[in-house]
Amino acid sequence: RFVTVEGGEGAGKTTVLNALRKVLEESGAEVVCTREPGGTPLAERIRALLLDPHHEAPAPETELLLMFAARVQHVRELILPALERGAWVLSDRFTDSSYAYQGGGRGLDVALIADLERRVVGLRPGLTLLLDLGVHQGRERMQVRDAAPDRIERERDEFFETVRAAYLARAQAEPQRIRVVDASSSAADVAYRASALLQHYLGV
Ligand code: C5P
Ligand code: MG
Repeated sequence: RFVTVEGGEGAGKTTVLNALRKVLEESGAEVVCTREPGGTPLAERIRALLLDPHHEAPAPETELLLMFAARVQHVRELILPALERGAWVLSDRFTDSSYAYQGGGRGLDVALIADLERRVVGLRPGLTLLLDLGVHQGRERMQVRDAAPDRIERERDEFFETVRAAYLARAQAEPQRIRVVDASSSAADVAYRASALLQHYLGV
Protein backbone atom coordinates (compact mmCIF):
# COMPACT_ATOMS: atom_id res chain seq x y z
CA ARG A 1 0.00 0.00 0.00
CA PHE A 2 3.02 2.25 -0.30
CA VAL A 3 3.38 3.99 -3.67
CA THR A 4 6.01 6.54 -4.69
CA VAL A 5 6.45 8.91 -7.60
CA GLU A 6 9.98 9.72 -8.73
CA GLY A 7 11.62 11.77 -11.43
CA GLY A 8 13.73 14.78 -12.22
CA GLU A 9 12.88 18.45 -12.10
CA GLY A 10 9.82 19.47 -14.12
CA ALA A 11 8.67 15.91 -14.77
CA GLY A 12 5.18 16.58 -13.37
CA LYS A 13 5.27 14.60 -10.15
CA THR A 14 2.71 16.80 -8.42
CA THR A 15 0.07 16.43 -11.16
CA VAL A 16 0.58 12.68 -11.21
CA LEU A 17 0.35 12.46 -7.44
CA ASN A 18 -3.01 14.22 -7.44
CA ALA A 19 -4.30 11.86 -10.15
CA LEU A 20 -3.15 8.79 -8.20
CA ARG A 21 -4.77 10.13 -5.05
CA LYS A 22 -8.08 10.34 -6.91
CA VAL A 23 -7.80 6.76 -8.15
CA LEU A 24 -7.22 5.49 -4.62
CA GLU A 25 -9.88 7.66 -3.02
CA GLU A 26 -12.45 6.45 -5.54
CA SER A 27 -11.78 2.94 -4.27
CA GLY A 28 -12.85 4.18 -0.83
CA ALA A 29 -9.42 3.94 0.77
CA GLU A 30 -7.82 6.36 3.19
CA VAL A 31 -4.92 8.02 1.36
CA VAL A 32 -2.02 9.86 2.95
CA CYS A 33 -0.15 12.08 0.49
CA THR A 34 3.30 13.17 1.46
CA ARG A 35 6.68 14.23 0.08
CA GLU A 36 10.43 14.01 0.54
CA PRO A 37 12.56 15.51 1.77
CA GLY A 38 9.90 16.41 4.34
CA GLY A 39 6.58 14.98 5.41
CA THR A 40 6.79 15.72 9.17
CA PRO A 41 7.55 19.03 10.94
CA LEU A 42 11.13 18.02 11.76
CA ALA A 43 11.76 16.53 8.32
CA GLU A 44 10.36 19.68 6.69
CA ARG A 45 12.88 21.71 8.69
CA ILE A 46 15.66 19.48 7.39
CA ARG A 47 14.27 20.07 3.87
CA ALA A 48 14.39 23.83 4.44
CA LEU A 49 18.03 23.52 5.54
CA LEU A 50 18.88 21.50 2.45
CA LEU A 51 17.22 23.90 0.05
CA ASP A 52 18.29 27.17 1.71
CA PRO A 53 20.62 29.02 -0.70
CA HIS A 54 21.88 31.37 2.06
CA HIS A 55 24.64 29.12 3.34
CA GLU A 56 27.37 27.08 1.71
CA ALA A 57 26.31 24.09 -0.37
CA PRO A 58 26.31 20.93 1.77
CA ALA A 59 29.11 18.43 1.23
CA PRO A 60 27.75 15.39 -0.65
CA GLU A 61 27.90 13.23 2.50
CA THR A 62 26.15 15.94 4.52
CA GLU A 63 23.41 16.03 1.91
CA LEU A 64 23.08 12.24 1.97
CA LEU A 65 22.90 12.00 5.76
CA LEU A 66 20.41 14.85 6.05
CA MET A 67 18.22 13.20 3.41
CA PHE A 68 18.29 9.98 5.40
CA ALA A 69 17.79 11.78 8.71
CA ALA A 70 14.63 13.33 7.26
CA ARG A 71 13.58 9.98 5.75
CA VAL A 72 13.85 8.00 8.99
CA GLN A 73 11.72 10.60 10.74
CA HIS A 74 9.22 10.47 7.88
CA VAL A 75 9.00 6.68 7.98
CA ARG A 76 8.61 6.38 11.76
CA GLU A 77 6.29 9.32 12.37
CA LEU A 78 4.09 9.28 9.31
CA ILE A 79 4.47 6.42 6.84
CA LEU A 80 4.54 3.37 9.13
CA PRO A 81 1.66 4.53 11.37
CA ALA A 82 -0.45 5.21 8.26
CA LEU A 83 0.34 1.80 6.73
CA GLU A 84 -0.36 0.11 10.06
CA ARG A 85 -3.87 1.53 10.24
CA GLY A 86 -4.50 0.32 6.68
CA ALA A 87 -4.16 3.59 4.80
CA TRP A 88 -2.44 3.98 1.44
CA VAL A 89 0.62 6.19 1.41
CA LEU A 90 1.55 8.16 -1.70
CA SER A 91 4.92 9.86 -1.55
CA ASP A 92 6.44 12.43 -3.88
CA ARG A 93 10.01 10.98 -3.84
CA PHE A 94 11.55 8.41 -1.48
CA THR A 95 14.84 6.45 -1.27
CA ASP A 96 15.13 6.10 -5.07
CA SER A 97 15.76 9.87 -5.10
CA SER A 98 18.85 9.32 -2.95
CA TYR A 99 20.16 6.68 -5.34
CA ALA A 100 19.57 9.09 -8.22
CA TYR A 101 20.71 12.43 -6.72
CA GLN A 102 23.23 11.54 -4.03
CA GLY A 103 24.40 8.32 -5.75
CA GLY A 104 24.18 9.33 -9.42
CA GLY A 105 24.35 13.12 -9.28
CA ARG A 106 26.84 13.46 -6.41
CA GLY A 107 28.70 10.25 -7.17
CA LEU A 108 28.49 8.83 -3.64
CA ASP A 109 29.05 5.13 -3.02
CA VAL A 110 25.88 3.23 -3.83
CA ALA A 111 26.80 0.54 -1.29
CA LEU A 112 26.63 3.18 1.46
CA ILE A 113 23.18 4.27 0.30
CA ALA A 114 22.03 0.65 0.15
CA ASP A 115 23.34 0.13 3.69
CA LEU A 116 21.47 3.16 5.01
CA GLU A 117 18.35 2.04 3.20
CA ARG A 118 18.51 -1.44 4.68
CA ARG A 119 19.68 -0.54 8.16
CA VAL A 120 17.85 2.67 8.97
CA VAL A 121 14.87 2.84 6.60
CA GLY A 122 13.96 -0.81 6.10
CA LEU A 123 10.98 -0.07 3.92
CA ARG A 124 10.45 -0.12 0.16
CA PRO A 125 7.45 0.95 -1.88
CA GLY A 126 5.32 -1.72 -3.53
CA LEU A 127 5.04 0.41 -6.66
CA THR A 128 7.17 3.29 -7.92
CA LEU A 129 6.28 5.38 -10.95
CA LEU A 130 9.35 6.93 -12.51
CA LEU A 131 8.47 9.97 -14.61
CA ASP A 132 11.20 10.09 -17.21
CA LEU A 133 11.94 13.33 -19.02
CA GLY A 134 14.83 14.76 -21.03
CA VAL A 135 16.97 17.20 -19.06
CA HIS A 136 16.45 20.04 -21.51
CA GLN A 137 12.66 19.68 -21.46
CA GLY A 138 12.63 19.53 -17.66
CA ARG A 139 14.64 22.72 -17.45
CA GLU A 140 12.26 24.51 -19.81
CA ARG A 141 9.25 23.48 -17.73
CA MET A 142 10.89 24.64 -14.50
CA GLN A 143 11.71 28.01 -16.00
CA VAL A 144 8.11 28.52 -17.05
CA ARG A 145 6.96 27.65 -13.56
CA ASP A 146 9.84 29.43 -11.80
CA ALA A 147 9.92 26.82 -9.04
CA ALA A 148 13.10 25.81 -7.19
CA PRO A 149 15.13 28.07 -9.48
CA ASP A 150 18.20 27.90 -7.25
CA ARG A 151 18.71 24.20 -7.61
CA ILE A 152 18.02 24.19 -11.30
CA GLU A 153 20.43 27.06 -11.92
CA ARG A 154 23.18 25.81 -9.66
CA GLU A 155 23.53 22.40 -11.29
CA ARG A 156 24.74 21.76 -14.79
CA ASP A 157 23.06 19.56 -17.40
CA GLU A 158 25.65 16.90 -16.70
CA PHE A 159 24.39 16.59 -13.10
CA PHE A 160 20.80 16.05 -14.20
CA GLU A 161 21.91 13.63 -16.93
CA THR A 162 23.56 11.42 -14.29
CA VAL A 163 20.47 11.67 -12.08
CA ARG A 164 18.31 10.53 -14.99
CA ALA A 165 20.66 7.69 -15.89
CA ALA A 166 20.76 6.48 -12.27
CA TYR A 167 16.95 6.45 -12.11
CA LEU A 168 16.70 4.47 -15.35
CA ALA A 169 19.33 1.99 -14.16
CA ARG A 170 17.28 1.38 -11.02
CA ALA A 171 14.16 0.82 -13.09
CA GLN A 172 16.04 -1.72 -15.21
CA ALA A 173 17.26 -3.54 -12.12
CA GLU A 174 13.78 -3.63 -10.55
CA PRO A 175 11.29 -3.69 -13.41
CA GLN A 176 8.58 -5.25 -11.24
CA ARG A 177 8.49 -2.41 -8.74
CA ILE A 178 9.60 0.58 -10.82
CA ARG A 179 7.46 1.48 -13.83
CA VAL A 180 8.84 4.09 -16.21
CA VAL A 181 6.37 6.66 -17.51
CA ASP A 182 7.37 8.82 -20.47
CA ALA A 183 6.76 12.32 -19.10
CA SER A 184 7.37 14.28 -22.32
CA SER A 185 3.70 14.61 -23.29
CA SER A 186 1.04 16.86 -21.69
CA ALA A 187 0.47 16.75 -17.93
CA ALA A 188 -3.02 15.29 -18.46
CA ASP A 189 -1.70 12.51 -20.67
CA VAL A 190 1.11 11.62 -18.25
CA ALA A 191 -1.37 11.58 -15.34
CA TYR A 192 -3.70 9.34 -17.36
CA ARG A 193 -0.99 6.77 -18.10
CA ALA A 194 0.28 6.85 -14.50
CA SER A 195 -3.27 6.24 -13.23
CA ALA A 196 -3.62 3.27 -15.59
CA LEU A 197 -0.44 1.75 -14.14
CA LEU A 198 -1.76 2.19 -10.61
CA GLN A 199 -5.09 0.63 -11.57
CA HIS A 200 -3.22 -2.31 -13.05
CA TYR A 201 -1.28 -2.65 -9.79
CA LEU A 202 -4.54 -2.59 -7.84
CA GLY A 203 -5.89 -5.28 -10.12
CA VAL A 204 -8.86 -3.25 -11.37
O1 C5P B 1 10.74 17.08 -5.39
P1 C5P B 1 11.25 18.48 -5.34
O2 C5P B 1 11.59 19.02 -6.70
O3 C5P B 1 10.40 19.40 -4.56
O4 C5P B 1 12.64 18.35 -4.56
C1 C5P B 1 13.27 19.45 -3.99
C2 C5P B 1 14.71 19.53 -4.42
O5 C5P B 1 15.52 18.61 -3.71
C3 C5P B 1 14.89 19.27 -5.89
O6 C5P B 1 15.61 20.36 -6.45
C4 C5P B 1 15.72 18.00 -5.95
O7 C5P B 1 16.66 18.12 -6.95
C5 C5P B 1 16.39 17.93 -4.59
N1 C5P B 1 16.59 16.56 -4.08
C6 C5P B 1 17.88 16.03 -3.98
N2 C5P B 1 18.06 14.77 -3.47
C7 C5P B 1 17.02 14.03 -3.04
C8 C5P B 1 15.71 14.55 -3.15
C9 C5P B 1 15.52 15.83 -3.66
O8 C5P B 1 18.84 16.67 -4.35
N3 C5P B 1 17.24 12.83 -2.53
MG1 MG C 1 6.93 19.10 -7.44
